[in-house]
Amino acid sequence: MTYKIAVLPGDGIGPEITDQAVRVLTALGLDLELKSAPVGGAAYDAHGHPLPPATLNLARESAAILFGAVGDWKYDSLARELRPEQAILGLRKSLGLFANLRPAILYAELANASSLKPEVVAGLNILIVRELTGDIYFGQPRGVREVAEGPFKGERQGFDTMHYAESEVRRIAHVAFQAAQKRNGKLCSVDKANVLETSQFWRDTVVDVAREYPDVALSHMYVDNAAMQLVRAPKEFDVIVTGNLFGDILSDEASMLTGSIGMLPSASLNASKQGLYEPSHGSAPDIAGKNVANPLATILSVAMMLRYSLGEAAQADRIESAVQAVLHQGLRTADIFEEGMARVSTSQMGDAVLNALK
Ligand code: NAD
Repeated sequence: MTYKIAVLPGDGIGPEITDQAVRVLTALGLDLELKSAPVGGAAYDAHGHPLPPATLNLARESAAILFGAVGDWKYDSLARELRPEQAILGLRKSLGLFANLRPAILYAELANASSLKPEVVAGLNILIVRELTGDIYFGQPRGVREVAEGPFKGERQGFDTMHYAESEVRRIAHVAFQAAQKRNGKLCSVDKANVLETSQFWRDTVVDVAREYPDVALSHMYVDNAAMQLVRAPKEFDVIVTGNLFGDILSDEASMLTGSIGMLPSASLNASKQGLYEPSHGSAPDIAGKNVANPLATILSVAMMLRYSLGEAAQADRIESAVQAVLHQGLRTADIFEEGMARVSTSQMGDAVLNALK
């Protein structure tokens, strides 16, 4: 079986961190067909568009996409549709990537990096499953209108529309239940069913899907409480599933619990398990080209690719164990450096993971 993988390094630190991830991927001994293409600002510079047709076609015909990061302040004055970040939106839309999976893992070795007490977060391992293509972010109608009646009559009013179709909720619920089956069998669905009709419908639909997963313990939580519990007792969670808006906020909150943005991978999947894998952080233009960025989030994104798109869970475990081993050896890039540890560059961290794989 040959796995076709598109490699889209992008901008800023994207190329440096993607290089290390590709080294790790190719060291596994799998039958791979890797093809690279420009994306984001790099693609705009070369072809006048952040997501040129050749890049999109390559992504479409690949089983998985390894994505570095896009963006740089130098593109801020471009028209919105030409900005680097539009490439991610274009890929999500064209490939129907509706399920965003973001683990928040705090390795015991990095427990001091969190702003929470080590005993609250050490060993944290939760997965946030966020619906990515629906909700109030895409609902129509939206815009600015004049209020026709009531206390604000005659004023201008901004408005958006929140909605979820049943099939949208069902498919993200299936992804979350199946992820929970592969982990500790606990799923918490987060909504605002006490206030929002869309949320009550979400909750009823998730309860219905749960009948197919008797081995998963389902609970529900209002989003305001979930935001509190993530800070109070984050280790109580296993998998969280939620909509686009709530997931946007909770996944950032969860990632900050770990205190180390350079460590967090992410996956965005479609119905046929094709996926885009990228670090949760951005292109970090402030440190680009200096060989100091942490490549571990991108390397761990490769592990997610193996697990979720290629069905190579044992190889994913190998990479995750290798990352754990280099942290245990005391190797740290600048972003996670602590006194007493050995400071390493981007490429030295890649070398260390390769060694640990052997
Ligand atoms: P950022 O995540 O790029 O950087 C925030 C801070 O974290 C910076 O100080 C940076 O140096 C540091 N950092 C990030 N990744 C790191 C790593 N791997 N190792 C060490 N340090 C790391 O966020 P930002 O500064 O707000 O945005 C910079 C650019 O990235 C913007 O153009 C933004 O639009 C873009 N962006 C892209 C994505 C993406 O490609 N998915 C996501 C977020 C932001």
